[in-house]
Amino acid sequence: MVKVGVLALQGAVREHIRSVEECGAEGIAIKKEEQLKEVDGLILPGGESTAMRRLIDKYDFMDALKEFAAEGKPMFGTCAGLILLAKNLVGHEPHIGVMDITVERNSFGRQVDSFEADLAIKDVADNFPAVFIRAPHIVEAGAEVEILSKHNDRIVAAREGQFLGCSFHPELTDKHDLTAYFIEMVKEAKAKQFV
Ligand code: GLN
Repeated sequence: MVKVGVLALQGAVREHIRSVEECGAEGIAIKKEEQLKEVDGLILPGGESTAMRRLIDKYDFMDALKEFAAEGKPMFGTCAGLILLAKNLVGHEPHIGVMDITVERNSFGRQVDSFEADLAIKDVADNFPAVFIRAPHIVEAGAEVEILSKHNDRIVAAREGQFLGCSFHPELTDKHDLTAYFIEMVKEAKAKQFV
C-alpha cells in the first residue's frame, strides 16, 4: 500500500486524508518535516497560500519540500497548493516553485467567490463536480505540461511529470477520481524506484 502525506499546516487536510483512504492508500497528516521521509507522495491542500507559506517558513519545511520534489516524488497541489507548486506567480515571488506554470490568484472574480462546475478532466472523468473557492488559475503552462482541464477557457488542471495541480477542491466531493489518478502516479513512481 502506498503512503500519501497531506501537508497539515493549514487548510482542508482531513477531507484529503479521507479521499486518499477511500482510494485504498494510507493517508498521513504531515505536521513535521521529518515525516516527509515516510511518504511516497504529497498533497498540498487548499487554504490560504500566504498563510501556508508563513507556516512553511516557521516550521522549516521549505528545504524538505524542495528535496521531496528533487527526489522525483509525486506532489499534488490543490487550489492554494497549486499556488505553492508554481514556478511563477502573477505579482508575487514563487513559493516551492517546482512546476513549470504561471498561476494567478483569486482569478474568478470577487463577486463569485465560490461556485461549482462540472468539468471534463482528461484521463480522469467526463463530469467531475469541481468546487472552486477563491480559486487561482493557470495563466501559462510550459512545453512539458499537459493540460487536463479548462473552465471558461482558463486552465484549471494540469500535470507535469511528477506534479499534478488543480484550481479547485477535489476533496470536497464524494467523487474521488482525481485523487485516485494521483495515487496511480504515486504507485508508478514508487514502482520505478525498485527497478
Ligand atoms: N485564494 C487562496 C490563495 O490565494 C486560495 C483559495 C483556496 O485554496 N481555496 O491562497
